[in-house]
Amino acid sequence: MEIKINKSTLSLVEGDITKQDTDAIVNAANKTLRGGGGVDGAIHRAGGPKILEECIKIGGCETGEAVITTGGNLKAKYVIHTVGPVYRDGLHNEPKLLENAYRNSLKLASSKGIKSIAFPSISTGAYGYPLEDAAEIALKTAINYLWEHPDIELVRFVLFGQKTLEVYEKKLKPLV
Ligand code: ADP
Repeated sequence: MEIKINKSTLSLVEGDITKQDTDAIVNAANKTLRGGGGVDGAIHRAGGPKILEECIKIGGCETGEAVITTGGNLKAKYVIHTVGPVYRDGLHNEPKLLENAYRNSLKLASSKGIKSIAFPSISTGAYGYPLEDAAEIALKTAINYLWEHPDIELVRFVLFGQKTLEVYEKKLKPLV
């Protein structure tokens, strides 16, 4: 599924984020930036040790913030590492922190002249964020950003598994 926001494109695909040919891919990292499981592990495995070297130099990242490294051996030139919130009960600022993770990743991309960026579904794996709620925040934040920042030409959500893709598609339809 694909929609236009002004001249920019927002697309939803099922797939593996490590294979994307966008200028940047986003990692759902943890605060230590030392790698981990899920999408984080997959990105470090596919991208090689240079990414971790840069992450160690950077030192860490607060929840809702974003940092940038090389893409190492990936097709993408850059990896933007952001830290989504660990979901507790939705009453601990989780929605705002998740929105910040997406928006700060996009802001960092703009500041580096990045034109195309791929996101995974941040916080909805090990961090336990309910998928439907997280999808809505992810999509609204990306759409709002693209309205205001046409410098980003493509935002692609790369969703692991058909079920996750279907939830994102269901949430995108009423926003179009
Ligand atoms: P978090 O700790 O932020 O919850 P996870 O990596 O555990 O991050 O999960 C986030 C989402 O990324 C989940 O929907 C998971 O299925 C998905 N995911 C895992 N590996 C990949 C991959 N290679 N490409 C895209 N998405 C992935």
